[in-house]
Amino acid sequence: MYKLQCTNYKLCSRRRVSRKWSPYLYIVICTFYIVSLAGCASTQPESRTRDGLLGTVITLTLYDHAPDAVFGAMFDRIGAIEDEMSVNLADSEISAVNAAAGLKSVTVSDETFALLRAARDIAALSDGAFDPTVEPLVKLWGIGTPDAHVPLPEEIAAARALIGYRDLTLGEDNGVFLARENMGLDLGGIAKGYAGDEVLRVAREAGVQHAVLDLGGNIVVCGGRPDGKPWRIGLKNPEPGADGYFGVVSLFDGAVVTSGGYERYFIEDGVTYHHIFDPQTGYPADSGLKAVTIVDDNSTQADGLSTACFVLGLTRGMDLLGRIDGAEGVFVTDDNKVYVTPGLADRFEMTDGAYEFMQN
Ligand code: AMP
Ligand code: MG
Repeated sequence: MYKLQCTNYKLCSRRRVSRKWSPYLYIVICTFYIVSLAGCASTQPESRTRDGLLGTVITLTLYDHAPDAVFGAMFDRIGAIEDEMSVNLADSEISAVNAAAGLKSVTVSDETFALLRAARDIAALSDGAFDPTVEPLVKLWGIGTPDAHVPLPEEIAAARALIGYRDLTLGEDNGVFLARENMGLDLGGIAKGYAGDEVLRVAREAGVQHAVLDLGGNIVVCGGRPDGKPWRIGLKNPEPGADGYFGVVSLFDGAVVTSGGYERYFIEDGVTYHHIFDPQTGYPADSGLKAVTIVDDNSTQADGLSTACFVLGLTRGMDLLGRIDGAEGVFVTDDNKVYVTPGLADRFEMTDGAYEFMQN
C-alpha cells in the first residue's frame, strides 16, 4: 500500500525549473551496473530518469509498481536538497554562508546543519583529507567547467590557505560561520550521499520495499531482489571512458558509493587532472588509487568516506575504515590491484582478469 505524505517533505509540491548542480559542462559516468537479474523477470521494475538534478543523471528503479506520485515525491526531495545545499545556486543556504564568510554567522535549516556536522566529523576523522571547506580549490581549478585549467602555484597556495574545517563554526541555533573572508563550503563530496539516504526514506515511507536508486553512480538499494536474493552491484572499470565492471558487491540493503579520478577531469599537456583535491597539496589527489568504493548502511557516510579514502590512499584509507563501524571498502590502485576490507570479503567477487585481487 502506497502512501504519500508530501507535507513531510519541504518544497515537495514546488515546481522546479531545471537547474544544475554545476551550471557548466559536466562529465558523469555511470559507476555501477546491476548484474544478473535473471530469475527476476516476474517482477517488472519501473524506472524514471532525470538529468540535471545535483548536476548528474539520477535513475530511480522501484520493483513495487509504484504510482507516478511516488517517483515525483522522490525527485522533489532531491530537488529540495539541491536548492538548500548547492554551491552553484546563488540563493542556496550554502551560498549564503559562503557570501558571509569572515563577516557573520548564517542560520541554516536543520538538515543543512546536520549534514555540515556529519561533514565536519568526517573531516576530523580523516584528518582533513575530506574537507567541506574545499570550495576555494574547486572554484580555482574549475574542473567540469569550460574554464578548467592548471592554476599558478601561487594561486594554489592562496586557495589552500583558505581551507580548514577547523575554521568552520557550527554554533547555537543552526548558526554557521566561516572564520575568514573568501573561505567557502562545497558539499559536492557528501550531498549526493545524503540525497540517497533521503530519497530512500521517502520511498520506504511510501511503501516501497525493493528499490535500486542511482544518484549519478552513488547507489542505494533496499529490500534485496524481489526473488529473495541480494542485489548484485557491478563496480565500474575505473578507466576514463571504459565500459564494463571489474567486480561485484552483493547486498540486500545499503549504499555503494564510488570516488574515482575517472569521473570528472580535464587533460592539459598530456596530464590528467581530476576533481578530488588533496587539501594538503592543493592539487588533485595523487595517492596511488584509481577508485575507492565504500559499502555502508548510511549513504551520507559512504559518500564522505569515499572522497576521504580516495585522498588518503590505500594504507591510510584502510586504517580509517577500520576505525568506523559498518564501513567497508574496495580500493583499486593505479597498478590495477584490488584490496577489499575484511568485512566485505564474502560479499565481493572479482570478475575481470585485468585486475589482481589482493588477499589481505
Ligand atoms: P566525490 O565524487 O564524492 O568524491 O566528490 C567529489 C566532489 O567533492 C568534488 O567535485 C568537489 O565538489 C568535492 N571535493 C573535492 N575534493 C574534496 C575534498 N578533499 N574534500 C571534500 N570534498 C571535496
Ligand atoms: Mg564522496
